[in-house]
Amino acid sequence: MTSTYLAGDSRINIHIEKGSLDVSNHDLMEWVRRASESVTAYYGRYPVPRVLLRVIPSNGKGLRGGQTFGEPEGGFIRVQVGSETTNADLENDWLLTHEMVHLALPSVADKHHWIEEGIATYVEPIARVRARHLGEHEMWYELMRDLPQGLPNPGDKGLDNTHTWGRTYWGGALFCFIADVEIHRQTSNRKGLEDALRGILNAGGDIRYDWELKRVLSIGDQATGVSVLVSLYDKMKNQPYEVDLPAIWKELGIEREGDTVRFIDSAPLAAIRQAITYGELQVSSKSTAAFDSTIVFAEQAAGSPRSTADSIPRDKPSDIAYADRRTLRQ
Ligand SMILES: [Zn+2]
Repeated sequence: MTSTYLAGDSRINIHIEKGSLDVSNHDLMEWVRRASESVTAYYGRYPVPRVLLRVIPSNGKGLRGGQTFGEPEGGFIRVQVGSETTNADLENDWLLTHEMVHLALPSVADKHHWIEEGIATYVEPIARVRARHLGEHEMWYELMRDLPQGLPNPGDKGLDNTHTWGRTYWGGALFCFIADVEIHRQTSNRKGLEDALRGILNAGGDIRYDWELKRVLSIGDQATGVSVLVSLYDKMKNQPYEVDLPAIWKELGIEREGDTVRFIDSAPLAAIRQAITYGELQVSSKSTAAFDSTIVFAEQAAGSPRSTADSIPRDKPSDIAYADRRTLRQ
């Protein structure tokens, strides 16, 4: 069965494959709505005009893996949903937002896969916080806990040459985090990574297209007015660039406290922490942006022009290791 969700001007067709699921179609549509709101909150709009989302029932409990591909009109996402998945699992899910973030970046050469996974890994929780689908304490706690997995090990040859799981997902996220702090620092807290990423998207750089990484980063830098992405890439691409994470947490005013974090607003970069978390919403004290989205339950006959048989991915999977990442995020 296929239903449609409209995220602003974008159309997301959700095709639920045959199989047993404990969650209802309505639960699944709400799950799509939350993920769409999150990426829209971060990017200012939904990244591509059309998406086909294939929901594939599988065994067990929880969301069991996803992949995102570019297609001529937008994107194709497939996600395996365990038959025993509950609505609470869907409410806490990060995977679909991660997949939708992939839509907002051009495909780059294989050796730069870390930037695709790094952006999706770093942006997903912030996007959910901005749409009020995740708490800021949980977001910072998880970043503090997980980011060290992206630090270089002995023998590391930089992000372009070290294709381990840790350096791909969390090394890429580390690049994004350092860049985000540095953009805020160099622009007196007026711009952040989201301005760079929105600039890339609005220059036409989405998953439908293949771009050189240098072009991606240069356009991001043009959007912020500071050359942070290109110069950080030059430092991290082919050597084990060291980062003193404890010092950065201290500057941002974040202390671990049991299973959560405590914020210290007198810390020197506390305002940067707040801007990273809430972006313009924090600065202007506006409530969550109104999302011009409507759910449309439109059943379509199987065999419609966008049936799954037409959706053979033209590109490589953007994701390789959800199962591992899921485990490490628990
Ligand atoms: Zn991914």
